[in-house]
Amino acid sequence: MVEHNRQVGTTGQSVAPKLYVACGISGAIQHLAGMKKPEFIIAVNTDKDAPIGEVADVLVVADLKQFVPTLTEKLRAL
Ligand SMILES: Cc1cc2nc3c(=O)[nH]c(=O)nc-3n(C[C@H](O)[C@H](O)[C@H](O)COP(=O)(O)OP(=O)(O)OC[C@H]3O[C@@H](n4cnc5c(N)ncnc54)[C@H](O)[C@@H]3O)c2cc1C
Repeated sequence: MVEHNRQVGTTGQSVAPKLYVACGISGAIQHLAGMKKPEFIIAVNTDKDAPIGEVADVLVVADLKQFVPTLTEKLRAL
């Protein structure tokens, strides 16, 4: 857990990125409050029913420990 001033949400910062890749983020309301309309949200979560899926444009149901290194490797190879 990071300090409050580094958290995205009600107790910390707001972010408005073009792309938000939410890895292992449940989608708690306190966190969503800090997301000011990212243009596109990709969520990576092992739980297909995680609340982040309700706001994500794409939900990847996968273990981030496997998915993120694989994605990084593929992007670096481009
Ligand atoms: C007064 C108050 C204020 C708060 N303010 C904030 C705030 O400003 N910002 C904030 O973020 N939170 C805040 N919180 C906490 C908030 O309620 C949630 O507890 C918190 O956002 C949950 O963080 P999380 O989604 O990272 O973790 P978790 O709730 O632990 O969720 C983890 C998610 O990751 C998934 N997962 C786990 N392992 C993997 C894996 N290997 N691969 C893929 N997916 C995986 C799980 O399925 C789960 O959906 C506040 C709480 C309170 C009470």
